[in-house]
Amino acid sequence: METLKFYNTLTRKKEVFKPLAPPVVTTYSCGPTVYSYAHMGNLRAYVFMDELRRTLKFAGYTTKSVMNITDVGHLTSDADDGEDKMQSAAKKQNKTPEEIAATYTAAFLKDLGRLNIIPPEIIAKATDNIPEMIAFVEKLVELGYGYEIDDGIYFDISKFDGYGKLSRCNLKDALAGARVAVNTQKRHPADFALWKKAEKNHIMQWQSPWGMGYPGWHIECSAMGKKYLGERFDIHTGGVDHIPIHHENEIAQSEALEGHQVVNTWMHNEFMMVDGGKMSKSLGNVYTIDDLIARGYSPLAFRYFCLNTHYRNKLNFTFDGMDGAKTAYERLRAAISACENAPAADDKTKATIQKCRDNITAAIFDDLNFPLALGEMWTLAKLPQCKEVYDTAKELDAVFGLDLHIPQEKQQDAVPDEIKELAEKRFAARKAKDFATSDALRKQLDELGYTVLDGKDGYEIKKK
Ligand code: AMP
Ligand code: ZN
Repeated sequence: METLKFYNTLTRKKEVFKPLAPPVVTTYSCGPTVYSYAHMGNLRAYVFMDELRRTLKFAGYTTKSVMNITDVGHLTSDADDGEDKMQSAAKKQNKTPEEIAATYTAAFLKDLGRLNIIPPEIIAKATDNIPEMIAFVEKLVELGYGYEIDDGIYFDISKFDGYGKLSRCNLKDALAGARVAVNTQKRHPADFALWKKAEKNHIMQWQSPWGMGYPGWHIECSAMGKKYLGERFDIHTGGVDHIPIHHENEIAQSEALEGHQVVNTWMHNEFMMVDGGKMSKSLGNVYTIDDLIARGYSPLAFRYFCLNTHYRNKLNFTFDGMDGAKTAYERLRAAISACENAPAADDKTKATIQKCRDNITAAIFDDLNFPLALGEMWTLAKLPQCKEVYDTAKELDAVFGLDLHIPQEKQQDAVPDEIKELAEKRFAARKAKDFATSDALRKQLDELGYTVLDGKDGYEIKKK
């Protein structure tokens, strides 16, 4: 196994990474709140998660990674008031929260696929883990960290000595920084909800020892991390916006329950900005992958755009920047894929290729320095055309995920496996004269951008 170094937000240091139980590395990534389409800022967080997981695998580890899908409990305000984001979207669109969750979870998974993001081994929905969350909260109450008031169960941050250690703010700052307490029953203004009691008209609610209610947002990640990865795990990822509240609260809950440190390495991606401010759904300055595709950019050009800036630096989203990324990406891909049938290299070129390969792996093993690695990939692409350039780039693409060795035209014509599967199902339904199913599947394929042409004995599937 190779030596890796990662920057740990908890210690503010780049550290040599030592997994708890190699060759397995356990990781947890805060997943999306599925009340709307993911924007490019959110997707930057998952490109980063993917760079990390691909790097771990490339270095010889196997990953056991969890990502949650937040489909309940994330309120419109961080101060534990406001409406559940799922419920408010459901009302606006005249749908149930389950329908909203299903629509945007499917859209999110499709986005991951388009960006060549390998899905984590475990993708867990918050609503499938309510009993675990209730048990977690019960235990915190039993241990004296949780207390009940009229509208829910809260975490008493003054009981947890390490509160503030991730964001390096002390309890006094946390209290001063907290909004004016909406809820005067809370012991401290910055205490946060573990479980909320539901009003009658709250759509999503479950039976609990405290009556009908729903989980706080932070408890989801603590409970699912424990369930799937155990009482200690290697790495936790998320965007920097989560450091001061969400992750601080996760640490408080999990460490209070276990009585020891739970996560060894905390890794955070910086923001994607628009015009100097954070790209965010609530600010309305967001772009989705479909917006980019409509303007002629491929999802992988966006992946290149992300890789070209270190994950710990802010990245400003502009269409000029996307134009640059698109041109560079297409040139790099064309240069490398053109080497597929090129002749073998001479010894001097072979040595240069080996040096590039070493520089690339050294860069990514040093806290995922993909901008430096991409620069070396360019050095490789500028060498005289030879088979070894193609082979090396193909091998390294396991970590870049940019399909650099596949000519762009070929990929555009290729029909992905999931589409082939749908087309097969439709054909089987048609043969069985189940026209309702076959029509529904044709519609689904149509929405995904594929047309089915039926022939006498078979069918043909084409990209529209
Ligand atoms: P959310 O769906 O809001 O819970 O966010 C999903 C992930 O995207 C989290 O890890 C956030 O920290 C991250 N995120 C949200 N906005 C941005 C942004 N503008 N740039 C980078 N990451 C972001
Ligand atoms: Zn989380």
